[in-house]
Amino acid sequence: MAILKVARMGHPVLRAKARPVPPSEIASPVVQRLIDDMFETMHEYAGIGLAAPQVHESLRIFVAGLRNAPVTDDFPEDDDMPFVALINPELTLVGKPDHEGWEGCLSIPEIRGLVPRAPRIQVRALDRAGKRVEFTASGLPARVIQHETDHLDGILFFDRMRSFGSLTYMEEYRRFHEKDEDEA
Ligand SMILES: [Zn+2]
Repeated sequence: MAILKVARMGHPVLRAKARPVPPSEIASPVVQRLIDDMFETMHEYAGIGLAAPQVHESLRIFVAGLRNAPVTDDFPEDDDMPFVALINPELTLVGKPDHEGWEGCLSIPEIRGLVPRAPRIQVRALDRAGKRVEFTASGLPARVIQHETDHLDGILFFDRMRSFGSLTYMEEYRRFHEKDEDEA
């Protein structure tokens, strides 16, 4: 396993639409190693999610999560999130994308901002075994999955903000805003 270099805002790979992974390639050592390396990179930088374009691979894959647990049909509606690796994800938003919560991004270091997201989503994807998975998510997992899926379409969280008035550096976030946090 290896810790990969993370692309930062401004690198064109973050603005490209990533290509789907052919299901027949999921079991290949190249894709399996990429997923392992993405988990290791996410842990190294204490992220809660990481999409393949962020490590310079324009493929529709992301990893996310906070702890080991089986992925059930319904994610819990709180700040808990099992580790997942999702390939070619398709999201259906349930409810309006108007729930604001704090987000950060490993490609936009040291910055936080309030981003409106749908409170609940339905997710269809392939897992790293190539098996089709379907589940619903709300709360933090719904936010993280929307953020990571946006990366696959070249969208960064700044693009989703209603205004830049909430943008804050991490140090000021901890000083002034962390207590306001309700979702992420
Ligand atoms: Zn991000």
